[in-house]
Amino acid sequence: MKIVSYLVAAALAFFGFIFIAGSQGQFIRIVVGVILLGAAAVFVYMVRVKPQPTQTTIVQKIDLSGDVDLQQIRCQNCDAALSDKSIRVEAGAIFVECEFCGASYQFEEKPKW
Ligand SMILES: [Zn+2]
Repeated sequence: MKIVSYLVAAALAFFGFIFIAGSQGQFIRIVVGVILLGAAAVFVYMVRVKPQPTQTTIVQKIDLSGDVDLQQIRCQNCDAALSDKSIRVEAGAIFVECEFCGASYQFEEKPKW
């Protein structure tokens, strides 16, 4: 969706340049060109300012897969390899509910492996 908005802005800017370049001194064409360029600028501005609703989810996923390798997380109680089904992220902290021994605890920020 963001890419489409940038394409529209690029198209507006392109036609703005066409109008100004091909104006041949006609005032109305320069005005139309400037309006198109302005519209393109507003489009880009709105896309950049507009908050992304899925941002929080994406950041959480990146944090989980980037800082902590799921393959290496083991239950601190029974040492079983934990899958993503046993792990949930809440308020930036990782909570573990072991599917093997039923242990439930908050995962340490700096694991010792
Ligand atoms: Zn366990």
